[in-house]
Amino acid sequence: MSASSFSLLFAAALAAMVGVRLWLAARQLAHVARHRDRVPAAFAGRIALAAHQKAADYTAARQRLGRVEMLVDAAVLAALTLGGAFSLLVAWTGALPAGPLWQDVALFGALALVSAASSLPFSWYATFVVEERFGFNRMTLGLWLADLAKGTLLAIALGLPLLLVVLWLMRDAGGAWWLWAWLAWMAFQLLVLVLYPTVIAPLFNRFDPLPTGEARERVEALLARCGFASSGLYVMDGSRRSGHGNAYFTGFGRAKRVVFFDTLLARLDGDELEAVLAHELGHYKLRHIAKRIAWSALASAAFLALLAWAMRAPWFYEGLGIAPALVPAAMARPGVALALFSLALPVFTFGFRPVAALYSRRHEFEADAFAARTASAGALAQALVKLYEDNAATLTPDPIHSAFYDSHPPAAVRIARLQAAAV
Ligand SMILES: [Zn+2]
Repeated sequence: MSASSFSLLFAAALAAMVGVRLWLAARQLAHVARHRDRVPAAFAGRIALAAHQKAADYTAARQRLGRVEMLVDAAVLAALTLGGAFSLLVAWTGALPAGPLWQDVALFGALALVSAASSLPFSWYATFVVEERFGFNRMTLGLWLADLAKGTLLAIALGLPLLLVVLWLMRDAGGAWWLWAWLAWMAFQLLVLVLYPTVIAPLFNRFDPLPTGEARERVEALLARCGFASSGLYVMDGSRRSGHGNAYFTGFGRAKRVVFFDTLLARLDGDELEAVLAHELGHYKLRHIAKRIAWSALASAAFLALLAWAMRAPWFYEGLGIAPALVPAAMARPGVALALFSLALPVFTFGFRPVAALYSRRHEFEADAFAARTASAGALAQALVKLYEDNAATLTPDPIHSAFYDSHPPAAVRIARLQAAAV
């Protein structure tokens, strides 16, 4: 392939991605607006018109903000690659009085700053304007800044060693470096899985044991019935940051924990809580988590092999905006290839999104069916109605937008299936 045809291919893929995303956003906005004035028949009497309209307005506000952010991201990516800004960063970091490994680390640091500069204003606006306007935000600016500082330190503490190992393997481990890098990546993910519940999550939230009472008895009975070994039931102070509710599993093996947001506990009764937990338990029992990890392991092996191939081709560098005179120096720095590859890859994998979303929605249906068998379909349907209302999730998404992006099936489809199972 020539550098100019790869440039053209990348530009076409980027333009196609932006075009599809704009089209989907326009469809979603129009669909939600068209159904704003009437609660869908399946929810009549259970959700008030005011709540339905709040969900429509919240969905539209987030969609509009997401659209601006997507355009900014695409413009930044185009400026970095085709516009030559990344090539400048390569030249600057290459002139630093440091070893080649640290020049590459500086390159990643510079990219992280660019990414922070383009994403932080959106994150701030989403929290303090959009979430605030709809009554969901509970964060203060101080907490937001503290989260940002902790998140940055954590990313450095965990990410820097991984980056150093991968760069070292790319440089010194020979032709099969990508296989070793893949093993290092898998080991890293395992480490994060172990550290997340015990070290990382407690940096951001408080975890208290689920207090004794009806809720705890119901949850323990369900876990015993399903033969689920867990090392603890916890309540997380999710209300510190937002009014949205959730429940999740974390950790693996015998160290699994069940975590409920305090916002969820405050809202659901015993039956509903049991049904929501049964759904989450379904994901574990049906091996959804293991399947997802297996798929992502397969994908990362394929991507690393692709990177190992692409980084030996001059067109890969020049096609993504590296100045021709700089290409030989860039090819001697594995960090350049790694950074360019991670910038360009999402543009080419965007088209697989509907497939991943479909796979995820199939798992959601299976977990719902599991909950219907082990707890109560009716109680899960009731809990979902409450959660949709509390989270102001739209009940009337555009079908194509939903098919493309949504990891969960549309509310009406999910609840209709549960109600069919309940009778
Ligand atoms: Zn689920």
